[in-house]
Amino acid sequence: MEILGKVIKENKITKIKKINFEISSIANIEPLSIEFYYNFLAKDNKALKNAKLLFKKTKMKAKCKDCNKISEMEDIFLTHCLNCSSKNIRVVKSDEIKILSIET
Ligand SMILES: [Zn+2]
Repeated sequence: MEILGKVIKENKITKIKKINFEISSIANIEPLSIEFYYNFLAKDNKALKNAKLLFKKTKMKAKCKDCNKISEMEDIFLTHCLNCSSKNIRVVKSDEIKILSIET
């Protein structure tokens, strides 16, 4: 989560209205802890303090080594390819959490 502090610093952002986050469904981080961290970062900064944090969950993806298709999974953990049923799949690593956009 240091990225949040970095983004704020690097962009010299003085006021934030809204931050849109994307969280991977396998992320072991909860929106609440991000809010907590953000409030900690912003506690001495009036311009940042009242920002709204919005979270969007993304689906987990797995790539099949046999047919190369990418299967999207809902909440369950995929054990086989949805296209050819091969068990030779690999979960596509995605960033657990990412800032989509910042509205100032
Ligand atoms: Zn397949």
